Amino acid sequence: MKTRILTLTPENGEEAARIAADVLAKGGLVAFPTETVYGLGGNALDETAAERIYQAKGRPSDNPLIVHVGSIPAVRPLVKRIPRKASKLMKAFWPGPLTIIFEKSGLVPERTTGGLKTVAVRMPSHPFANLMLKTSPVPVAAPSANKSGRPSTTNAKHVIEDLNGRVDLIIDDGNAPIGVESTIIDLTGPVPVLLRPGHITKEELEAVIGPVETDRAVERESIISKQTETVRPKAPGMKYRHYAPKAPLTVVSGTEENMKAYLSSQSDKKTGILTVEERRDCFPEAFAVLTAGKKNDVLSMERELFDALREFDALPVERIYAEDLSKYGAGEAVMNRLLKAAGGTLINV
Ligand code: AMP
Ligand code: MG
Repeated sequence: MKTRILTLTPENGEEAARIAADVLAKGGLVAFPTETVYGLGGNALDETAAERIYQAKGRPSDNPLIVHVGSIPAVRPLVKRIPRKASKLMKAFWPGPLTIIFEKSGLVPERTTGGLKTVAVRMPSHPFANLMLKTSPVPVAAPSANKSGRPSTTNAKHVIEDLNGRVDLIIDDGNAPIGVESTIIDLTGPVPVLLRPGHITKEELEAVIGPVETDRAVERESIISKQTETVRPKAPGMKYRHYAPKAPLTVVSGTEENMKAYLSSQSDKKTGILTVEERRDCFPEAFAVLTAGKKNDVLSMERELFDALREFDALPVERIYAEDLSKYGAGEAVMNRLLKAAGGTLINV
């Protein structure tokens, strides 16, 4: 398949949105920018389009897709009911990086929801995504626009790397401003449950709807002890190995001094190190030092993590060590992705 690549300019947004909406209406696939990561979209109500998304990504068929909408009223036909807490969250955080799980209506095929009776819905705030979704006659199912298992894509170059020739259209709008996927909250049970940490934190959610539980499977301790086999995550996608660069990655945790001493002793010309900008010059023994943001700047870490993980793949490194970024103020979202990229491998030094 020939993939059309369309770069956004200050002038062509509306035209690009019409072109994208047209591809979607005809059952085609469009990779598009959102404020979190790039999405790989297809008609959420069309089983064949959903099937094509799974195929393009090589995604396991039990891993449901998030349905994207352009307005709050567009949620109504997709779900059985809208709980009061969902209304509050939509009002507080939409458009934005929050995905809410509802009981699905008959309109949404199970192919889209990986066989589940529930559906994940989000309204992105990215201006192009929002315009495209408002223009599209159908809601858009869109997982992250990467090959399954690889880091999510935060710019069009990475999308092209993974999906060129597998989708109809790629919309290029440069770097995604947030860089980690949306926070996911499940409102179908008696207590709200956080299924995936993201830019919107548990505390921010609790300020609007009161107590929120966290799915045990996404907690640091569960990932480190590799309990994803026994503690089954409620978001099916969280059980898969994810985000992994090609060389094995180990997270190293300790005081700044201990991490530096350990990493220096382990480094050689085949070693890559992931740290924060302020520590770039601390590891001259390593082949490459890449950085994911600055100390105590959560957003910079979110924005740069996936980019750095992908960058290692272009380098001749055979092992990668990442410093425990929580020591530099990284939040749950970054630590969840980093530990998953390491397959839960963490050593304390
Ligand atoms: P991605 O869009 O690639 O970030 O993947 C979507 C994530 O949302 C995966 O982790 C899915 O398992 C999760 N998800 C989507 N729909 C549901 C649902 N109905 N219930 C629980 N998790 C879901
Ligand atoms: Mg994904």
